[in-house]
Amino acid sequence: MSERRAEIIELFSSIQGEGLLVGLRQAFLRFHGCNLACSYCDTRHGNLPGTALLEVTPGRRDFNPEQNPVALEKVVDTLNLWLRGWPGIHHSISITGGEPLINVEVLREWLPELQRLLPIYLETNGILYHVLEELIPNIDFISMDIKLPSSSGCTDLWEKHREFLQIASQKTVFVKMVICDATEDWEVMRAGELIADVDPAISCILQPMSCNDGTVGVRPLRMLELQEIAAGLLADVRVIPQTHKFIGQL
Ligand code: SF4
Repeated sequence: MSERRAEIIELFSSIQGEGLLVGLRQAFLRFHGCNLACSYCDTRHGNLPGTALLEVTPGRRDFNPEQNPVALEKVVDTLNLWLRGWPGIHHSISITGGEPLINVEVLREWLPELQRLLPIYLETNGILYHVLEELIPNIDFISMDIKLPSSSGCTDLWEKHREFLQIASQKTVFVKMVICDATEDWEVMRAGELIADVDPAISCILQPMSCNDGTVGVRPLRMLELQEIAAGLLADVRVIPQTHKFIGQL
């Protein structure tokens, strides 16, 4: 087993609240750090916490603190306990962050070991395409963002997203875009064209931005208008809000 240690925030079991696999139970392995600074980000990117939190009983939030950086053995041992005690409940391991692909040295060694336990589902901001190219043999599902300038504050990522999606299309991939009230037609059109250039069958999720109270912060009619634009270019365009926000903490 790899002896490389990783900067981890937490390992817990929950329901996937976003995207194409919404509602499925996953083991979430959250890495520390990100290479972007989206305006809507709700993830802590400060200093690495001294301890990572590893859930003992899946979904029960009875966390054990573990000194950072964490050994792969600790993560595998926890997952093995879950798999033995609660067989069949987890669909996959969500490798999430932050941006997990900034941990390329760790993932190079960890993913083959984790993939022996469950399929690997990568949640990514979709720009580190060179890293994806190296790791993709050990990834099964990819949820990638296209960062729209209006909602994320990020600009000039279009070509990186294109390169990323081209590589990601070797596996089961879908694209997620966060929509806000200020999102303009051209942004969704440009993203739709980018996806269609790679493969018009790739699923596209329009995710309305959530308010702090968990409600959806974009007018319903606006979501329909933007879906109509994307659906003119792509076969599968879905409007899916962040379901975990209104279901409550799961
Ligand atoms: S890519 Fe994700 S984790 Fe990173 S800043 Fe943007 S929303 Fe936050």
